[in-house]
Amino acid sequence: MSNPKTISCPHCGEPARVDSSNDYRPFCSRRCKLIDLGDWLDESNRIPDPSGSAPQGNWDNGGGDDQGLPH
Ligand SMILES: [Zn+2]
Repeated sequence: MSNPKTISCPHCGEPARVDSSNDYRPFCSRRCKLIDLGDWLDESNRIPDPSGSAPQGNWDNGGGDDQGLPH
């Protein structure tokens, strides 16, 4: 039983070792890991980036609301 434990690389399907000798597990190689991670990041970045229209100026309006209330 000296067979190293391998799985199919989720990206390319090549055998990939899943022991500690493989830094890129469950992928077979660094390339596959980076490609798959890149895909994943692409997916999560589909949410529109709000940095173009951050609603930071709205807080300026909140100061004078209580001047109409009788004390
Ligand atoms: Zn691979």
